Amino acid sequence: MDRLKTDCSQCAALCCLALAFDKGRDFAFDKNPGQPCPNLKHHLCSIHESLEEKGFPGCVKYDCLGSGNRVVQEVFAGRSWQDDPKLTRPMMEAFSGMREVHKRIDLLRAAETLPLEPADEQTRRDYLARLEQFHWSGPELNDFEVGMALEIDIFFHGLRRYVPR
Ligand code: SF4
Repeated sequence: MDRLKTDCSQCAALCCLALAFDKGRDFAFDKNPGQPCPNLKHHLCSIHESLEEKGFPGCVKYDCLGSGNRVVQEVFAGRSWQDDPKLTRPMMEAFSGMREVHKRIDLLRAAETLPLEPADEQTRRDYLARLEQFHWSGPELNDFEVGMALEIDIFFHGLRRYVPR
């Protein structure tokens, strides 16, 4: 299974709930974080086929890199905030944490193309395996940004010496 593959059918419309957007070129109205989009019908977008024409190209461009479906299935066993409103906040928080995890999976994969020394290549693979294979819980995702994400970002900083200027 490719961890970065988005599968909206296994998600609970977390992006249409959690993310904020501003009225403008990409979105036809303002939306606050945690406000379910009024175009949402259960877990589906009611204007999915005509998003561009209706003024929502931003929704077409957005890709959570598989973090929404992973949160719903791995952390919440397929449950949804729509069936149990108590889950709204924990699901939003977990989605935020998982987006950070998946952003780093994406970057760690991209670093494969750099001519890394063996020790750095091993570190890259170790981080990637941890982020992809770990079975995350909500609290662990909440801690990710102040813990392992910082470690990985320091590692990325060190990789800049491999990037041709
Ligand atoms: S317009 Fe559709 S895809 Fe965009 S946030 Fe609303 S429900 Fe989601």
